[in-house]
Amino acid sequence: MAAERIDGKRIAAETRAEIAEKVAAMKAGGVTPGLAVVIVGENPASQVYVRNKHKACGEVGMYSEVIELPEATTEDELLSVLAKLNERADIDGILVQLPLPKHISEEKVIHAIRPDKDVDAFHPFNTGKLMIGNPDFLPCTPAGVMVMLEKSGVNVTGKNCVVVGRSNIVGKPMALLLLAANGTVTVCHSKTPDLAAVTREADILVVAIGRADFITGDMIKPGAVVIDVGMNRRADGKLTGDVDFASASEVASMITPVPGGVGPMTITMLLENTLRAAALHHK
Ligand code: NDP
Repeated sequence: MAAERIDGKRIAAETRAEIAEKVAAMKAGGVTPGLAVVIVGENPASQVYVRNKHKACGEVGMYSEVIELPEATTEDELLSVLAKLNERADIDGILVQLPLPKHISEEKVIHAIRPDKDVDAFHPFNTGKLMIGNPDFLPCTPAGVMVMLEKSGVNVTGKNCVVVGRSNIVGKPMALLLLAANGTVTVCHSKTPDLAAVTREADILVVAIGRADFITGDMIKPGAVVIDVGMNRRADGKLTGDVDFASASEVASMITPVPGGVGPMTITMLLENTLRAAALHHK
């Protein structure tokens, strides 16, 4: 039987409606949550992401500001822009769109954002708080996956959870969130010798590797819940995930499509973090 599709667009729309209500309540109390998005250079994919973030803020009633800087901006110039945003009372969240031009250190830039405005949750202060189980902000993509599981009625407690990929922005924080939700978590990566033997044990399988259609149906336990974080461009320009949807959906009980799965949740969780930042600033 074909797996049930987890509809990321629908869940994102529901979650954004809930956020919009909270923003309206906050505005009634005289506070408008504000996000600043900084983009350096003219990477077309980054420009699309930034436009989408700006639009999403407007749709839930938040203030947002896009700061576009030329490719030739120096690291010091960018740091001084961030220092000003750190001090502004109308800006609750600051996001610097990655990747940055090669002459700018991403690490220095991430460290320069005030942790209480770090809505991407990339600053070591926030990654540390996540690790000890006391986060102010959750990293957007893994947090979006957790909301999708919850809204689809998937209980993580006691489940075998396998995360494929160990990046700082997806795989590692994903593993921590599943652990915090009482899953038994295994993390795989490119040096895992028999990947299929591990993925076949997963009740919940989350894949974030950046390789088109890599996880096939024969690597999935019958009845598993499969979450595909991957976003890859095929030669024909179409977007595809890390999971081979056709074969996987024959075996899984629930599966996220690409597009229309995890993608729409990431910006939604950025809005959630901006709301949390505003709540922190106006206790
Ligand atoms: P990274 O390239 O930073 O990390 C990829 C991870 O996958 C690494 O840990 C790597 O292992 C592992 N890996 C690569 N090949 C294999 C393999 N053959 N077997 C097992 N593990 C493997 O990617 P990201 O985490 O940033 O992104 C992953 C995917 O998710 C991408 O497609 C990206 O576009 C997408 N993405 C989607 C988002 C969304 O909003 N939907 C947001 C962020 C990312 P090792 O550490 O050993 O090298």
